[in-house]
Amino acid sequence: MTTSTTASQVTVYGYPRQGPDRELKKAVEGYWKGTVSAAALRSTAAELRCANWRRLAGAGITEVPTGDFSFYDHVLDTTVAVGAIPPRHRAAVEADSLDGYFAMARGTQEVAPLEMTKWFDTNYHYLVPELGPDTVFTADSAKAVGELREAIGLGHRGRPVLVGPLTYLLLAKPAPGVSAGFQPITLLDRLLPVYAQLLAELKSAGAEWVQLDEPALVQDRTPAELNAATRVFRDLGALTDRPKILVATYFDRAGEALKVLAKAPVEGVGLDFTGPAAANLADLAAVGGLPGKRLVAGVVDGRNVWVNDLEKSLATLATLLGLADRVDVAPSCSLLHVPLDATAERELDPQIARWLAFARQKTAEAALLARGLREGTDTIAPQLAANRADLASRAGSPITRDPAVRARVAATTEADARRGQAYPERAAAQRARLALPVLPTTTIGSFPQTAELRLARADLRAGRIDAAAYRERMEAEVREVIEYQEKAGLDVLVHGEPERNDMVQYFAEQLTGYLATQHGWVQSYGTRYVRPPVLAGDISRPAPMTVDWQRYAQSLTDRPVKGMLTGPVTMLAWSFVRDDQPLGDTARQVALALRDEVTDLEAAGAAVVQVDEPALRETLPLRAADRAGYLAWATEAFRLTTSGVRADTQVHTHMCYAEFGEILGAIEDLDADVISLEAARSHMEVAHELTDAGYPREVGPGVYDIHSPRVPSAEEAAALLRAGLAALPAERLWVNPDCGLKTRAWPETRASLENLVEAARTVRAELAG
Ligand code: GLN
Ligand code: ZN
Repeated sequence: MTTSTTASQVTVYGYPRQGPDRELKKAVEGYWKGTVSAAALRSTAAELRCANWRRLAGAGITEVPTGDFSFYDHVLDTTVAVGAIPPRHRAAVEADSLDGYFAMARGTQEVAPLEMTKWFDTNYHYLVPELGPDTVFTADSAKAVGELREAIGLGHRGRPVLVGPLTYLLLAKPAPGVSAGFQPITLLDRLLPVYAQLLAELKSAGAEWVQLDEPALVQDRTPAELNAATRVFRDLGALTDRPKILVATYFDRAGEALKVLAKAPVEGVGLDFTGPAAANLADLAAVGGLPGKRLVAGVVDGRNVWVNDLEKSLATLATLLGLADRVDVAPSCSLLHVPLDATAERELDPQIARWLAFARQKTAEAALLARGLREGTDTIAPQLAANRADLASRAGSPITRDPAVRARVAATTEADARRGQAYPERAAAQRARLALPVLPTTTIGSFPQTAELRLARADLRAGRIDAAAYRERMEAEVREVIEYQEKAGLDVLVHGEPERNDMVQYFAEQLTGYLATQHGWVQSYGTRYVRPPVLAGDISRPAPMTVDWQRYAQSLTDRPVKGMLTGPVTMLAWSFVRDDQPLGDTARQVALALRDEVTDLEAAGAAVVQVDEPALRETLPLRAADRAGYLAWATEAFRLTTSGVRADTQVHTHMCYAEFGEILGAIEDLDADVISLEAARSHMEVAHELTDAGYPREVGPGVYDIHSPRVPSAEEAAALLRAGLAALPAERLWVNPDCGLKTRAWPETRASLENLVEAARTVRAELAG
């Protein structure tokens, strides 16, 4: 076995793009509006890159990433770099590369944008490459070379970052009009020469190393895909005119791909050693390490906000030193997924602020670890002592451990996560209590979040109105929403969620154990940034969170109004989670807090309670082997939330996507009485899938696609209902939109819901006749 011969360095795969005050968002949106010129946008971008590199260099990084910057998305940048511009966008890109770029990202009146989807299991969304048998790739190194030269011009050594060819093809989809069976990976032979050219041009522009990001290697890959990986590295490795290649993997363990990487004729490999990826340590030893190679060891969690356990990381690194030629230290993935700087959080208790590490702090942690490796851990003894103190303060804090919460979780039994009665008994009791017509109509919860509602919230925050005036405005909205639904003829009503800024944040703000940040922005897609709340400690509910709104709404009508909550799995998925206990433990605490809310809603008279879990599928682990464990705690947490109610209280859940394949069993395990899902665009396919899987309960497959302002006609909605009836008996079919209406405007919402009710009436008449 080899041992490290070259001193350890610190590096990062990528850095947040937005700037300390989200300058990039403002400049890009200003450009779209016409208030910022292209030149001004480009110079803002250059300043942000320059500031990032300066900061990284100041932290001790001698080889800064370049090309990780993006005006919108790095996968779209790769599409440009390999010339895979969809035909419908070519004219625009040729006319003006910047406008054409944004047209691909956002669409125009005439042309649709690229589809957007989640980047692995993060909350970052990328633009999906569209490829087909006719795709011709051509190298366009302008951005990659330009940003490298820019860094060199500023006195840095730059390491250009590109999405690797395997990941690029594995993330692509067949272009519109191309058969769905087309596999983009079959284009590999055509794509590799383009990467060869990019590498050559980067080398001649001064790159010593290039970083190829291949996170697709941490997913389960077929033998054919692993062979393709072997070929990619063999072919690129064999090039004579190229920089040294660092293949970066992250988000999980490399598994089978580790053998491929170890044998590959590339000079460097990046591996993640955090969370489930810690298995890389033993796996790496088992394949004999990476003799002769540079290993970039991702020991600082790049996706979470907690301070690193430096001594634990040093122990991992000490083992790794014997397994590669050179061991560099890095955050586990690009720092794109965490906020910029924890020291900006001046409103946090300073004690708690010390538990947090954002991009800037994570860079410093990695730098410190590298120094420890290089110069000996005694040279960083004071920092290690401070780190120990921070970790101890977190572990010992009453925020982290609330004995009452712990005792309650410990006393929870299997029976608490089961409804008291079997489904048929519940269904009968609910039918008697609710007395709904066949094909009952309802909505998913939110009604349009108008500018006036957002303004009222801004007024409250700025102190221009007080809490009572705010409440008054929201209640007026609830009145309007209830009146409207009665008039439209809907059967199960909602209060419309006007008071909610966001379906997770609204609850996080009211639960003890959650922290909010002031500046913790993270890119979700393009210029959209979110500020995920932080699940910091043990979770409890000091007071009811939604009951007053529910009670008020119900007081206005005789029809049932649904209580409306966000489920425990989604509360975790859209927050930064604790790293000091299993996710299932955190989920159980959140579930118990929500369970109290459900019981209070029931006591306040709600006959129907909906618990939304739109994130259930997106947090599915990347590796199939980990999925059963995840689904077990996830479904248990949902049942723990919803099982404290009487037989005649109807539990609804909602999810907004159509691909259920892998989680059909989990949906059954939720044991919800009614589930509403997205189905309009797939023509009720999901209703058939559920029926084929033997799903026994009631289902509301969406008949109104809420993702566009288009109003579906009554006839169209009726046709979808008839398609639903081909899969489900009338007694188990609900009529509802695909998702909440918060992003819609009132005129199209009114027209669409009226058509939806008319469709239900038409099909009911057909059933009766
Ligand atoms: N009840 C929420 C709403 O209607 C559900 C949103 C969602 O599924 N993302 O807005
Ligand atoms: Zn939804």
